[in-house]
Amino acid sequence: MSRYEVDGVDIQSLPKVSLHDHLDGGLRPQTIVELADEVGLELPAADGPSLGAWFAQRSNSGSLPEYLTTFDITTAVMQTEHGLHRVAKEFVLDLAEDGVIYGEIRWAPEQHLQRGLSLDAAVEAVQAGIDEAIGLVETHGGSIRVGQLISAMRHLDRGDEIAELALRHRDAGAVGFDIAGPEAGFPASRLASAFDILAKAHFPATVHAGEGDGIESIKDALFSGRALRLGHGTRIAEDIAVEEESDDAIVVRLGETAEWVKDRQIALEVSPSSNLQTGTIAQWGEELADHPIDLLLQLGFAVTVNVDNRLQSGTSLTRELGLLVEAFEWDLDDLEQVQQNAAAAAFCSFEEREALADEIADGFDRLR
Ligand SMILES: [Zn+2]
Repeated sequence: MSRYEVDGVDIQSLPKVSLHDHLDGGLRPQTIVELADEVGLELPAADGPSLGAWFAQRSNSGSLPEYLTTFDITTAVMQTEHGLHRVAKEFVLDLAEDGVIYGEIRWAPEQHLQRGLSLDAAVEAVQAGIDEAIGLVETHGGSIRVGQLISAMRHLDRGDEIAELALRHRDAGAVGFDIAGPEAGFPASRLASAFDILAKAHFPATVHAGEGDGIESIKDALFSGRALRLGHGTRIAEDIAVEEESDDAIVVRLGETAEWVKDRQIALEVSPSSNLQTGTIAQWGEELADHPIDLLLQLGFAVTVNVDNRLQSGTSLTRELGLLVEAFEWDLDDLEQVQQNAAAAAFCSFEEREALADEIADGFDRLR
């Protein structure tokens, strides 16, 4: 039993879909301690619990660049096949434990070459860890499906190479492409040729946008990146004017980008706790209750709920949903809606998405 409930139901027991979950943001603190010991890396804390607390404290800075510095430590212990394999395996086991039935794991292979791994060997090591974990989950009577999202760093210049890498592994675990890293000043159009390579090969992309920058970055993600989903997309709310608001009605006017994103049901991979920590919602306030996610869901946007980085935010998908239940009085129907939105936006076949939708509906109905 988790401590997060909705309408008397334990949220952990509900079937969930995780679309925005960084591999280098989801390590167990104790694993970092052990892997750091193996490679002789000095850490800011000596044991798992105090290291976990260090990450939480560093991540509460309110700035995206500051938040991103915590990844120097996690990526440092993920530079070998052994490290990548172990981290990926535990990552999937933790997802299954949290009630996730389908997950997409994103990470940037180009950040993992410091000890001589090749890009392809890195992707294979992660896939081997994923496959081992899926086997273990099945041995214990569970089931989980997992795909890799291959990220390119938006401030570096390896986009084409990483796009080709993702395509080489498309039938061996890679299900999509992403760009990550500092958003402001580094629009998707910097990597336009990578997105062209992917589009010609009919390979799907999600793009971090509307997190560290606003509407122009979202537009660029949609048009240069041909993004089928937006990584967070939270700042699409800057394109929504609330004209009247009462207890039972709200009148809004959507700008043309918000209208496009809503009408096309381009999924927003919103990560509530992370958005608070990185200052993404600073213009609306400092509390979760100030987050535009509730407005976006009520207006019919394809809102999905995500963790972004479980370690840095000290969170899980169960916890993020629980916090939304507390902040906005979301009920079981709201939680099912965001899971169905995520299933509909998953980078798998139409038939697999339909099967996921049925599994979610059955899981929620069983607990109603
Ligand atoms: Zn992210």
